[in-house]
Amino acid sequence: MTSGDCPLCALDAAEALWANDQCFVISAEIMGVGTICRVIWREHVQEMSELDAAAQGAFMSVVFGVEAVLRALARPTKMNVASLGNLVPHLHWHVIPRYRDDAYFPDAIWAPARRKALARPVEDAVLRIALEAGLRG
Ligand SMILES: [Zn+2]
Repeated sequence: MTSGDCPLCALDAAEALWANDQCFVISAEIMGVGTICRVIWREHVQEMSELDAAAQGAFMSVVFGVEAVLRALARPTKMNVASLGNLVPHLHWHVIPRYRDDAYFPDAIWAPARRKALARPVEDAVLRIALEAGLRG
């Protein structure tokens, strides 16, 4: 996969919930879980080890900032932070609130569902304001 056929390269960072010069944050709804965030590196890079140390640190500081914001809003049992990229090999992190009674717990959200569960959505407008406040400075 190159930047030409990459779905993350095709996203418009101007429509993100939050963005800086290096990365941006979008939300997604996972059935039986709720709202998750994805933190996406702007440049089409496959692995964290391709970034220099300063860029790695800056990126992870955004990822951990998003984790703190989403944890405060979603009040989960546990937060999951994961970078896989097997299907879409463009550097991005998933930030996922988890609940003891969500559809997949205690497995990863990519596992087969264990039960039916209600999702716990967080409104994009609420997330946008909290990210702006939480990721400042
Ligand atoms: Zn890409």
